[in-house]
Amino acid sequence: MFTRVLRLPGFIIIVGVLAAVNRLCVKAGLRFAWTGQSLIPHNSGSRYNHAMRPRIAVESPPLSRAWINSTVSGKDLSRFRRALLLWYDQHRRDLPWRETRDPYRIWLSEIMLQQTRVAAVVDHYRNFLERFPNVQALAAASEEAVLAAWSGLGYYRRARMLHQCARQIAEQHGGFFPRNSEALFALPGIGRYTAAAIASIAFAEPVAVVDGNVERVLQRLVGIKFTGVNLTTPQIWRHAQSLLATSRPGDFNQAMMELGATVCVPREPRCPLCPVREWCVTQGEVPRVEPPSRQKKKQIWCALEWRNGSGSAKVRLVQRPKELSLMPGMWELPQSSESPRPLPASARWRTFRHSITITDYTVHVLRNTLLRNTPLPNAPPAAKAKWIAIDRIPQIPITGLTRKILKAGGII
Ligand code: SF4
Repeated sequence: MFTRVLRLPGFIIIVGVLAAVNRLCVKAGLRFAWTGQSLIPHNSGSRYNHAMRPRIAVESPPLSRAWINSTVSGKDLSRFRRALLLWYDQHRRDLPWRETRDPYRIWLSEIMLQQTRVAAVVDHYRNFLERFPNVQALAAASEEAVLAAWSGLGYYRRARMLHQCARQIAEQHGGFFPRNSEALFALPGIGRYTAAAIASIAFAEPVAVVDGNVERVLQRLVGIKFTGVNLTTPQIWRHAQSLLATSRPGDFNQAMMELGATVCVPREPRCPLCPVREWCVTQGEVPRVEPPSRQKKKQIWCALEWRNGSGSAKVRLVQRPKELSLMPGMWELPQSSESPRPLPASARWRTFRHSITITDYTVHVLRNTLLRNTPLPNAPPAAKAKWIAIDRIPQIPITGLTRKILKAGGII
């Protein structure tokens, strides 16, 4: 009895101390296992809490994830895929690279289509394939010949990387394309999008693609109007992958891109014609934010001089320095950013509009007679310009602007 009396105050003291400590811990936001309260600070506004979040959670806010999951899932997902594929089967444009599963042809079309309109690519694609029908032929060609065939498409770095990649495939892969997106991604000039496009279309690998068109469709489908935020790039890729029809991955990817290119277009989406309208949260009602124009305007003067002497007709061209970052080593008409003074009215021939990356040029083309009397200011010295036989021009790389002018003059 005496012992029990002695033990009771001790027990009461211990319980009291523990309760006090617990209260302090709860105030501080800590949890003791035995009370079931959090050991991790639970003040969501604290810096500690944010620092402890896994990185993936930062990239994928819970709101967007929930939204994505509720948009198309379960049975709806099968219906969504069927609707899109059916529409694609019935409405896709007839394009030459859609008739093939040859990875070389698919790769070529994907590289040509980067930053370039479909209409501008079709003829170049056919002509390029006539000259280089397979990866071995491309690998064996000189860089000059490849650039000549690319001439007019612009962004010539693509052609150089294409050539480099063809050589690597010929030398390190026996002339065969790797059959999966990971190995394709390791090749020069092949990014995540292109690797996924080739792997899914040529080899049926179930891997989604995201280009500008797909991104726009997905942002509209899940409804930035309601969440108030755009999906992040990792969320876009994950969402594209979750929608992918794995039975026809190549067709599904092309269907998504085709939808963005022909129906869910940037300015006025054609929602009444959209095959996936019932799953679209925004139905085209997306606040449009026009990016500020980065285009610059410039004027240049070009001298077009040609002659029909003995032998074949010739035109005078200069070669751009090889160390330039823009179109190095390509041939063009002598040009200047200043107008010759005086500029006789008889020297003017025609004016062209031409855009290169972010610059819109107004190009004044001056005729033959001018160079003899009034040379272009700051133009390369005449000694550096060369008379090039017109029938040699298909074999040398000329700039798109020069091609445009020579064609307009009926010279090529
Ligand atoms: S319903 Fe309209 S906005 Fe939505 S995906 Fe289709 S075309 Fe785009």
